[in-house]
Amino acid sequence: MKAEDEVVDLCRELLRFDTSNPTSNEQAAADWVAEKLREVGLQPELLAAEPGRTNVVARLPGADRERPGLVAHSHLDVVPAVATDWRQPPFAGVIADGELWGRGALDMKSSGAMYLAAVRAYARSGRRPARDVVIAFTADEEAGSRLGMAWLVKDQPRLFQNCSEAVSEIGGFSVSLAGDQRLYPIQTAEKGGLQLVLRASGRAGHASILNADNPIPRLCAAVARLTETVQPLLYIEASRSFLKGVAELLGEPFDEARPELLTRHLESLGPMVESSLRNTIQATIFNAGYKNNVVPGEAAVRLDCRVVPGHRAGVVEEIDRIAGPGITVEVEMAGDGVEVPYQGRTFEAMQEALRSEDPGAVILPYCMSGGTDGRFLAQIGIHSFGFSPLRLPEGFDFTGLIHSADERVPVEGLRFGARVVDRFLAVA
Ligand SMILES: [Zn+2]
Repeated sequence: MKAEDEVVDLCRELLRFDTSNPTSNEQAAADWVAEKLREVGLQPELLAAEPGRTNVVARLPGADRERPGLVAHSHLDVVPAVATDWRQPPFAGVIADGELWGRGALDMKSSGAMYLAAVRAYARSGRRPARDVVIAFTADEEAGSRLGMAWLVKDQPRLFQNCSEAVSEIGGFSVSLAGDQRLYPIQTAEKGGLQLVLRASGRAGHASILNADNPIPRLCAAVARLTETVQPLLYIEASRSFLKGVAELLGEPFDEARPELLTRHLESLGPMVESSLRNTIQATIFNAGYKNNVVPGEAAVRLDCRVVPGHRAGVVEEIDRIAGPGITVEVEMAGDGVEVPYQGRTFEAMQEALRSEDPGAVILPYCMSGGTDGRFLAQIGIHSFGFSPLRLPEGFDFTGLIHSADERVPVEGLRFGARVVDRFLAVA
């Protein structure tokens, strides 16, 4: 059996495990993955930092064992789904109108199924991938990876011994351009995360009395100022190469000051690329008050900021300055973004594999607006790429469906992905 012949069934099975983070865990899905690897003669290890939060890792030997290995990693957990918001049940693996529905269909059980199908096909047939492949299914990515990749890298680095590169989510999906041409962005950079808490304190008291020291309006004004401040465009190599490539494809000039002239042609990838060009500041949780007729003594807001790789210095100080007097800024988490070079055999292998299935494919590096588990592998010197190939029909809202109701993946796109991954492992 070829990878493409079982990828849809594997993905369906994976989607039927409710691995919602934080309300469920990865145990049953991890046991199932391990069994699928054992079935073809591999020896998976099950590793859990806490009971139920299980990771699975196995190594498939390559043809050239002297070359450093390739890590193919997928997270098993998903964000929760509210079933009443969906047109199909989120954990049933329903196929309707050529699409496979379920939470994780894009983020990222489809990718896990492709790499699992390809590794199984190699192991069954006795074919060897070009080099060792370490296939990893991880826990806890949707909550920061403390029990998943962050833990594996810190506690079990031997698993990734002699590996130099990794492939994972949010890259290799197609974006339709005019004239039946498709662009496949490969993620070669991702932004860093910065989680902040801003606090304002004031004078508590009866709400019927004038109070110029109410912390709520002060904090709201600070959030408004932060949101209205236009952050400068910050170009890194991946962003510049990407937009240059898009400009060439469209036959339009590339004006660095006006990226929106190009990104508006990129379907749902456009907003993601635009967001990757600046540091972003989003207020996500606001806490203040406990009773309608009492002015509280404190108000707090959480900010989720995403920082362009190499541009974290001075960001907190700048936020502190804009927030103004009477507001304190506390850093809860700060992680750097990463960018890897995209020249070389692995990137070329992705190009070749995509073009073998879609001859007109245009492949460009790009910077992702969020973060992936690749940032932890970067800590042990492993270069990560977003490469989960999917050929999507024109107008398919890839980025819009991630973490949304009605998440789904086209069945033919999934089979395409399995063929591309199979080819990629042969030449990477
Ligand atoms: Zn994901």
